[in-house]
Amino acid sequence: MSVLVKNLMEDMVERKFRQIVPQLNCCTCDICKTDIMCYALNRLKPKYVATSQGELLSRIDSLSSTFEIAIMTELTAGAEIVRKNPRHNTSTE
Ligand SMILES: [Zn+2]
Repeated sequence: MSVLVKNLMEDMVERKFRQIVPQLNCCTCDICKTDIMCYALNRLKPKYVATSQGELLSRIDSLSSTFEIAIMTELTAGAEIVRKNPRHNTSTE
């Protein structure tokens, strides 16, 4: 069985982003989405684990509640910054 070195924080941030994106009230194109996720990931501690593909989802599930508030806080802050300074032209909106 193959074992991966995996930063679970990335998966948790992406999952939480998808959950709260309707409340973020900002552009959700790929550029803005990755900017918001990078902002959050740079401020959250990475959470590296050695895990098999099959174990991955249950490990994310069991850790998510621990980091939920911190992840939401950083995603919300990131969305605020991207909303004020999007990296692309917003005049067509
Ligand atoms: Zn955008």
